[in-house]
Amino acid sequence: MNNNKVALITGASKGIGAAIAKKLASQNIKVAINYNSSQLDALQVKNEITALGGVAEVFKADVSDRQAVSRLFEEVESVLGQVNLLVNNAGVVENRLLTNMEEEAWDKVIDTNLKACFLVSQRAASAMCRSRFGRILNIASTCGFVGTVGQVNYSASKGGIIAMTRSMAKELSSYNITVNSIAPGFIETDMTDGFDSSPQGRQVLKKILMSRPGTVAEVANMAAFLLSDENSYMTGQSVVLDGGLSV
Ligand code: NAD
Repeated sequence: MNNNKVALITGASKGIGAAIAKKLASQNIKVAINYNSSQLDALQVKNEITALGGVAEVFKADVSDRQAVSRLFEEVESVLGQVNLLVNNAGVVENRLLTNMEEEAWDKVIDTNLKACFLVSQRAASAMCRSRFGRILNIASTCGFVGTVGQVNYSASKGGIIAMTRSMAKELSSYNITVNSIAPGFIETDMTDGFDSSPQGRQVLKKILMSRPGTVAEVANMAAFLLSDENSYMTGQSVVLDGGLSV
């Protein structure tokens, strides 16, 4: 059943996106690995998947650019087939205090984290509606629920994703499309490199009930469940995956 499915994961050349791509491929799902700049990393993810017998291909696109998104879908559809499972994972941080934040830092984070989620979901949902099946998973953050210092732009983008998840779920449920998000806390990736040894990071670590950062594999496990046929009823939700940080 899964081998008829095609998953597109944005920003999948490393970190959480790469882990989700590998997990889905291990379940016989064909995987489209989107990357923007790191072609070598993306090819490495593809090679790891194909070495284990999975099917994967790499596709370059800046997902905050409408034309690039349009080309991306044309390429994915012609190489792998229609996208049934979408993971909006691409994300960036540009951390500054509000009073120091340039408009460019605001725009970059909102465009990459929030606008891209709109552009990619819009294109994917059109095809999913026609085939009356789809799963959309957005990678939000606990920062979308609680404010974080130096992340006015990032928190706004992730709060937007959580709200968008609910709206999209309402619009798409009648087409048998579910839309959910995962809100990770502190996960060890390049994005959080060095955070655990910073004063703010040490404070955060003390508050995590599980006493450690999460791993990309733990996010990928939750993603695989939310995208699977076993999850046929949950929609519009954001699953907090933070080791108990926000409890
Ligand atoms: P990461 O930096 O390892 O990965 C982010 C990926 O997005 C990279 O591959 C990057 O190239 C890609 N990307 C950035 N801009 C892009 C664009 N315009 N087009 C296509 N790809 C683009 O970081 P990560 O921790 O793996 O982050 C993945 C997602 O998880 C992000 O949305 C991030 O906000 C979210 N998240 C991470 C954490 C954490 O603690 N690491 C916590 C909460 C949420």
